[in-house]
Amino acid sequence: MSLRAAQLTGQDASALQPMNPRPNAPWLHQGVLEDLAALQQAATDAGFNLRVASGYRAFERQLAIWNGKFNGEKPVLDANSHPLDIIHLSESERVKAILRWSALPGASRHHWGTDMDVFDQNAIAPNQSLALTPHEYDSGPQAAFSSWLEDNVSAFGFFLPYAKDQGGVAREPWHISHITTSSIMLSAFSQNMLATAITHAPICGKHTILNQLDWIYSTYVTNLCEVE
Ligand SMILES: [Zn+2]
Repeated sequence: MSLRAAQLTGQDASALQPMNPRPNAPWLHQGVLEDLAALQQAATDAGFNLRVASGYRAFERQLAIWNGKFNGEKPVLDANSHPLDIIHLSESERVKAILRWSALPGASRHHWGTDMDVFDQNAIAPNQSLALTPHEYDSGPQAAFSSWLEDNVSAFGFFLPYAKDQGGVAREPWHISHITTSSIMLSAFSQNMLATAITHAPICGKHTILNQLDWIYSTYVTNLCEVE
């Protein structure tokens, strides 16, 4: 498989496809679909209804999230999930605060189509919506599904790259990654590709990001929980 920088940074989704024929279906890498279907079937057998809230996400979308947070137009939370007054922080403090919850555009594993955020549709009450918060998965309505997921994903070829807080990305018990395809992506990806994508993007904090890219790459891109 030959992979180009545009595919690895969310700027070319031509190798991806919708996971099902429904309108607005998440787009995923073709190499993920069979294992995902088996995982979904196992979830169904266990009494859950495993759905994908988010699969592929384009660079442009991640850029809009980033710039919105950097400018204080979208909320940014601190380590205790309280809103931060980001416009009073220095540029490098803003970068660090955003990176805890949102990937740098070009560096999201959602760009690859190998990673997805999953939930149990059966656990969502008719008047509720999914929030994707640690509380929801640890002790809230998604807790039973979350513990099933943790015990079963590896048997179907997936892992939870953000299962634990390792000082980079916050814990995301809903984020699963297809082991073989994502490891091909990560090996083909590089800090240079990321630097090029950032250099050419209309991104807030560009100078600060580029100055800190060594640290950002080792703390947020390659700092993953082990495959179990
Ligand atoms: Zn995710």
